[in-house]
Amino acid sequence: MASGRSAHRHRHYAADTRHAPDTSQQTLEETLSGEVLPRTKHIKTRQAHLTSPVSRARSSTPTGDGITAAVLDYDAPIIEIASHGDLVLRIEHTINESTISKAFRVDSQVLRTHSKYFASLLQPGRFSEADTVEDKHKSLREQYRDLAAAPAAELPTLSIEDVGRISVKSLGPLLADFFHVLHGMNIQNPPPIANLANIAIVADRFDALEMVKTYVQRKKTFRTLEGKTTAKQDQALSEEKVRQRLLVGLLLDDSSWVDKYSFRIMSKGWVGKDVPISAALWWDLPSRIEEELAYRRDCVLETVQSLLSHFLTLYTSRERQCKLGYDSSPQCDSFQLGEMMRFFVRTGTLQLRGTIIDTEEPPESYAGDLDHLLDTLRQVPEYQIDKFHSHCGIRTKLVPLLDLLQRHLSHAGICIECWQDRRLDYAWLGAKRPLLWKKEDRRLLKYGHGDLHVGTRDLFTATERAWS
Ligand SMILES: [Zn+2]
Ligand SMILES: [Zn+2]
Repeated sequence: MASGRSAHRHRHYAADTRHAPDTSQQTLEETLSGEVLPRTKHIKTRQAHLTSPVSRARSSTPTGDGITAAVLDYDAPIIEIASHGDLVLRIEHTINESTISKAFRVDSQVLRTHSKYFASLLQPGRFSEADTVEDKHKSLREQYRDLAAAPAAELPTLSIEDVGRISVKSLGPLLADFFHVLHGMNIQNPPPIANLANIAIVADRFDALEMVKTYVQRKKTFRTLEGKTTAKQDQALSEEKVRQRLLVGLLLDDSSWVDKYSFRIMSKGWVGKDVPISAALWWDLPSRIEEELAYRRDCVLETVQSLLSHFLTLYTSRERQCKLGYDSSPQCDSFQLGEMMRFFVRTGTLQLRGTIIDTEEPPESYAGDLDHLLDTLRQVPEYQIDKFHSHCGIRTKLVPLLDLLQRHLSHAGICIECWQDRRLDYAWLGAKRPLLWKKEDRRLLKYGHGDLHVGTRDLFTATERAWS
């Protein structure tokens, strides 16, 4: 039962095992934790996942949550979501080893309709919880006729533990927002982005994302939030804010946010971190997004490096590069090679190392912004050995290739439709790397949506690239 349900609820967000390009070990991890875990760079995280709150939430079936009918902490007032509600939900959540408990009066029918988790938990005859609630309702009906008249303290109480990997100062308002949305009521619009991210995490935990999606669509929440952020503010968003926006886009299906902010994370190099299991879900994006973005960044960096190698190889070959035709000179080539190397070394994109003995650690990958890297290369001067050799420098050849790279790069964010519907064909991770990418492959211009993705991926994942 647990695995069946888990497989179902991960249809959209967790990696689909059928599509997962890896081995039996991964399948095992999928089974244990309900989501496929990163293969590289995240060793600690991977271990942690197995016992993370999310894993527990996802693997716990409703049977794991006990019912304590009419046992209430009377000090904590019951927050009324539905005044006619026939059920009290007592929700416990542990943050940093302190457990907070909140109780809500809710309508069990609403819960059943909009949350697959509660639909399952409250299905009569399936779990003891449902039967106990049913019995209690029966006796209350004898007493009050209408359950709406019953005081909250006498209603059956359902205890639930763990609401997912949220990060909040106070639990009550977050859960109240979530239950209000579930009951078709309004909340602050637009909610601050952190709130929206937390609501989405709770909705995901209770398998109730559809209702939240409908709500944000109806309220035009994404558009309102966009409208409140100027382009300048958007560019200055912190990593945490960007991650919250990406998570919200992923969980609530906003393709433009997913594209934009997944690209931002990749481009800024906010990838490949080990995060503690207590961290909010946006620090450890679900369904292998973290791993995909780290991989995409590596591919892009490798592509940029291959461009530099291309020029170094050209100018260290025997083939004359000087463009002066009849008067072409080897001195011009030597001069260009020297200036080029000096430029690359100066910009930190090339390191000259001896190969006679290994004395140094290999250099770390570039950790900065991809835009900045490309801008730096774009500043290569038009070197000229004398007034006759006016078009011999690499600038003439490098800049158009950087333009091409930039054009392809603008399609390197994640497309949520393809990520969800045909990940096997779409993901870079696990995709077969083309042996050779040729510049003439102008798929980007010619074909449709899918070819755009493939054209971009082919360039960045190719084992070799023919830049000439
Ligand atoms: Zn020349
Ligand atoms: Zn697509």
